[in-house]
Amino acid sequence: MLNIILFGPPGAGKGTQSEKIIDKYKLTHIATGDLFRKHLGEGTDLGKLAQKYMDEGNLVPDEVVIGMVDEKIKDTQSSSSGYIFDGFPRTVPQAKALDTLLEEKGEKIAGMIALDVPEEELKSRIKERGKTSGRADDQNEAKIENRIKVYKDETLPVANYYDGENKYVKVHGVGSIEEIFSKISAEIDRLK
Ligand code: ADP
Repeated sequence: MLNIILFGPPGAGKGTQSEKIIDKYKLTHIATGDLFRKHLGEGTDLGKLAQKYMDEGNLVPDEVVIGMVDEKIKDTQSSSSGYIFDGFPRTVPQAKALDTLLEEKGEKIAGMIALDVPEEELKSRIKERGKTSGRADDQNEAKIENRIKVYKDETLPVANYYDGENKYVKVHGVGSIEEIFSKISAEIDRLK
Protein backbone atom coordinates (compact mmCIF):
# COMPACT_ATOMS: atom_id res chain seq x y z
CA MET A 1 0.00 0.00 0.00
CA LEU A 2 1.05 3.55 -0.65
CA ASN A 3 -0.35 5.89 2.01
CA ILE A 4 0.11 9.62 1.59
CA ILE A 5 -1.06 12.68 3.47
CA LEU A 6 -1.85 15.76 1.40
CA PHE A 7 -1.40 18.63 3.81
CA GLY A 8 -2.00 22.36 3.73
CA PRO A 9 -4.09 25.25 5.03
CA PRO A 10 -7.74 25.77 4.06
CA GLY A 11 -7.90 26.86 0.43
CA ALA A 12 -4.50 25.38 -0.48
CA GLY A 13 -6.00 23.18 -3.21
CA LYS A 14 -5.95 19.80 -1.48
CA GLY A 15 -9.33 18.77 -2.89
CA THR A 16 -8.43 19.74 -6.47
CA GLN A 17 -5.08 17.96 -6.38
CA SER A 18 -6.51 14.90 -4.58
CA GLU A 19 -8.86 14.29 -7.50
CA LYS A 20 -5.91 14.15 -9.87
CA ILE A 21 -3.82 12.00 -7.52
CA ILE A 22 -6.53 9.36 -7.07
CA ASP A 23 -7.03 9.25 -10.81
CA LYS A 24 -3.35 8.77 -11.62
CA TYR A 25 -2.27 6.55 -8.71
CA LYS A 26 -5.58 4.72 -8.03
CA LEU A 27 -5.52 5.52 -4.34
CA THR A 28 -8.55 5.68 -2.06
CA HIS A 29 -9.45 9.24 -1.06
CA ILE A 30 -10.22 9.92 2.60
CA ALA A 31 -11.23 13.57 2.92
CA THR A 32 -12.66 14.17 6.38
CA GLY A 33 -14.29 17.51 5.40
CA ASP A 34 -16.10 15.78 2.52
CA LEU A 35 -17.15 12.91 4.78
CA PHE A 36 -18.58 15.34 7.33
CA ARG A 37 -20.42 17.27 4.61
CA LYS A 38 -21.89 13.99 3.36
CA HIS A 39 -23.15 13.16 6.86
CA LEU A 40 -24.52 16.68 7.16
CA GLY A 41 -26.38 16.34 3.87
CA GLU A 42 -27.84 13.02 4.97
CA GLY A 43 -28.82 14.43 8.37
CA THR A 44 -27.07 11.70 10.37
CA ASP A 45 -26.31 12.12 14.09
CA LEU A 46 -22.63 12.47 13.22
CA GLY A 47 -23.49 15.23 10.73
CA LYS A 48 -25.55 17.08 13.30
CA LEU A 49 -22.75 16.83 15.83
CA ALA A 50 -20.12 18.06 13.38
CA GLN A 51 -22.13 20.96 11.98
CA LYS A 52 -21.73 23.36 14.88
CA TYR A 53 -17.96 23.02 14.76
CA MET A 54 -17.70 23.20 10.99
CA ASP A 55 -19.94 26.22 10.56
CA GLU A 56 -17.68 28.24 12.86
CA GLY A 57 -14.48 26.96 11.32
CA ASN A 58 -13.50 25.02 14.45
CA LEU A 59 -12.22 21.45 14.55
CA VAL A 60 -14.56 18.57 15.19
CA PRO A 61 -13.36 16.68 18.34
CA ASP A 62 -10.54 14.21 17.68
CA GLU A 63 -12.36 11.07 18.86
CA VAL A 64 -15.22 11.76 16.44
CA VAL A 65 -12.89 12.26 13.48
CA ILE A 66 -10.71 9.26 14.33
CA GLY A 67 -13.75 6.97 14.68
CA MET A 68 -15.03 8.07 11.29
CA VAL A 69 -11.65 7.49 9.59
CA ASP A 70 -11.25 4.08 11.27
CA GLU A 71 -14.63 3.04 9.89
CA LYS A 72 -13.83 4.32 6.40
CA ILE A 73 -10.53 2.37 6.35
CA LYS A 74 -12.29 -0.80 7.52
CA ASP A 75 -14.90 -0.43 4.78
CA THR A 76 -12.40 0.07 1.98
CA GLN A 77 -9.14 -1.69 2.87
CA SER A 78 -9.86 -4.99 1.11
CA SER A 79 -10.21 -3.20 -2.23
CA SER A 80 -7.64 -0.45 -1.70
CA SER A 81 -4.06 -0.19 -2.92
CA GLY A 82 -3.40 2.77 -0.65
CA TYR A 83 -4.86 5.98 0.73
CA ILE A 84 -4.59 9.67 0.15
CA PHE A 85 -5.56 11.48 3.35
CA ASP A 86 -6.89 14.98 2.73
CA GLY A 87 -7.76 17.30 5.62
CA PHE A 88 -6.67 14.60 8.07
CA PRO A 89 -4.75 14.39 10.39
CA ARG A 90 -5.36 17.93 11.55
CA THR A 91 -4.02 17.58 15.09
CA VAL A 92 -1.06 15.69 16.58
CA PRO A 93 -3.38 13.28 18.47
CA GLN A 94 -5.07 12.50 15.12
CA ALA A 95 -1.65 11.84 13.55
CA LYS A 96 -0.70 9.47 16.36
CA ALA A 97 -4.06 7.69 16.10
CA LEU A 98 -3.60 7.30 12.34
CA ASP A 99 -0.14 5.81 12.82
CA THR A 100 -1.61 3.30 15.29
CA LEU A 101 -4.51 2.40 12.98
CA LEU A 102 -2.10 1.75 10.11
CA GLU A 103 0.41 -0.11 12.27
CA GLU A 104 -2.32 -2.54 13.33
CA LYS A 105 -2.68 -3.41 9.66
CA GLY A 106 1.07 -3.66 9.06
CA GLU A 107 0.95 -0.38 7.13
CA LYS A 108 2.47 3.10 7.48
CA ILE A 109 2.43 6.62 6.09
CA ALA A 110 4.94 6.88 3.25
CA GLY A 111 5.06 10.67 3.32
CA MET A 112 3.33 13.98 3.78
CA ILE A 113 3.15 16.42 0.87
CA ALA A 114 2.44 19.96 2.08
CA LEU A 115 1.02 22.58 -0.24
CA ASP A 116 2.55 25.95 0.52
CA VAL A 117 0.35 28.96 -0.33
CA PRO A 118 0.60 32.54 1.00
CA GLU A 119 -2.14 33.63 3.38
CA GLU A 120 -3.56 36.42 1.20
CA GLU A 121 -3.95 33.97 -1.69
CA LEU A 122 -5.75 31.51 0.61
CA LYS A 123 -8.26 34.10 1.74
CA SER A 124 -9.06 35.22 -1.78
CA ARG A 125 -9.45 31.61 -3.02
CA ILE A 126 -11.81 30.72 -0.16
CA LYS A 127 -13.93 33.83 -0.74
CA GLU A 128 -14.12 33.02 -4.43
CA ARG A 129 -15.11 29.41 -3.64
CA GLY A 130 -17.76 30.74 -1.22
CA LYS A 131 -19.68 32.22 -4.14
CA THR A 132 -20.55 28.71 -5.35
CA SER A 133 -19.63 26.16 -2.64
CA GLY A 134 -22.70 26.78 -0.48
CA ARG A 135 -20.41 26.28 2.51
CA ALA A 136 -21.23 28.46 5.52
CA ASP A 137 -17.55 28.43 6.51
CA ASP A 138 -16.48 29.88 3.13
CA GLN A 139 -18.73 32.89 3.20
CA ASN A 140 -17.76 34.99 6.15
CA GLU A 141 -14.50 36.86 6.76
CA ALA A 142 -14.39 36.09 10.49
CA LYS A 143 -14.93 32.36 9.88
CA ILE A 144 -12.23 32.27 7.25
CA GLU A 145 -9.85 34.07 9.64
CA ASN A 146 -10.73 31.59 12.36
CA ARG A 147 -10.00 28.60 10.10
CA ILE A 148 -6.57 30.00 9.30
CA LYS A 149 -5.91 30.66 12.99
CA VAL A 150 -7.01 27.11 13.92
CA TYR A 151 -4.72 25.80 11.18
CA LYS A 152 -1.72 27.68 12.60
CA ASP A 153 -2.42 26.77 16.23
CA GLU A 154 -3.59 23.16 15.97
CA THR A 155 -2.71 21.78 12.55
CA LEU A 156 0.77 23.13 11.74
CA PRO A 157 2.32 21.02 14.55
CA VAL A 158 1.28 17.96 12.50
CA ALA A 159 3.82 19.01 9.84
CA ASN A 160 6.56 19.09 12.49
CA TYR A 161 5.48 15.66 13.67
CA TYR A 162 6.03 14.12 10.20
CA ASP A 163 9.11 16.24 9.59
CA GLY A 164 10.57 14.61 12.72
CA GLU A 165 10.06 11.26 11.00
CA ASN A 166 11.68 12.55 7.78
CA LYS A 167 8.38 12.17 5.95
CA TYR A 168 7.65 15.81 5.19
CA VAL A 169 8.06 17.54 1.85
CA LYS A 170 6.85 20.99 0.80
CA VAL A 171 5.48 21.84 -2.66
CA HIS A 172 4.81 25.38 -3.84
CA GLY A 173 1.03 25.58 -4.27
CA VAL A 174 0.72 28.64 -6.51
CA GLY A 175 0.65 28.25 -10.30
CA SER A 176 -1.49 26.27 -12.71
CA ILE A 177 -3.26 23.15 -11.46
CA GLU A 178 -1.16 21.07 -13.89
CA GLU A 179 2.14 22.62 -12.80
CA ILE A 180 1.41 21.94 -9.16
CA PHE A 181 0.22 18.42 -9.96
CA SER A 182 3.42 17.58 -11.80
CA LYS A 183 5.46 18.65 -8.77
CA ILE A 184 3.26 16.54 -6.49
CA SER A 185 3.54 13.58 -8.89
CA ALA A 186 7.34 13.81 -8.81
CA GLU A 187 7.23 13.61 -5.00
CA ILE A 188 4.82 10.67 -5.03
CA ASP A 189 7.03 8.82 -7.51
CA ARG A 190 9.89 9.22 -5.07
CA LEU A 191 7.78 7.66 -2.30
CA LYS A 192 6.65 4.63 -4.29
P1 ADP B 1 -10.86 23.29 4.35
O1 ADP B 1 -11.32 23.73 3.01
O2 ADP B 1 -10.99 24.35 5.40
O3 ADP B 1 -9.54 22.62 4.35
P2 ADP B 1 -12.37 20.82 4.91
O4 ADP B 1 -13.38 20.61 3.88
O5 ADP B 1 -11.18 19.90 4.94
O6 ADP B 1 -11.93 22.32 4.88
O7 ADP B 1 -13.03 20.76 6.37
C1 ADP B 1 -14.13 21.56 6.71
C2 ADP B 1 -14.38 21.51 8.22
O8 ADP B 1 -14.63 20.14 8.62
C3 ADP B 1 -13.24 21.95 9.11
O9 ADP B 1 -13.18 23.35 9.27
C4 ADP B 1 -13.58 21.20 10.42
O10 ADP B 1 -14.64 21.81 11.10
C5 ADP B 1 -14.09 19.87 9.91
N1 ADP B 1 -12.98 18.91 9.78
C6 ADP B 1 -12.53 18.35 8.61
N2 ADP B 1 -11.51 17.52 8.84
C7 ADP B 1 -11.29 17.56 10.17
C8 ADP B 1 -10.34 16.94 11.05
N3 ADP B 1 -9.41 16.09 10.57
N4 ADP B 1 -10.39 17.24 12.37
C9 ADP B 1 -11.30 18.06 12.86
N5 ADP B 1 -12.22 18.69 12.10
C10 ADP B 1 -12.22 18.45 10.78
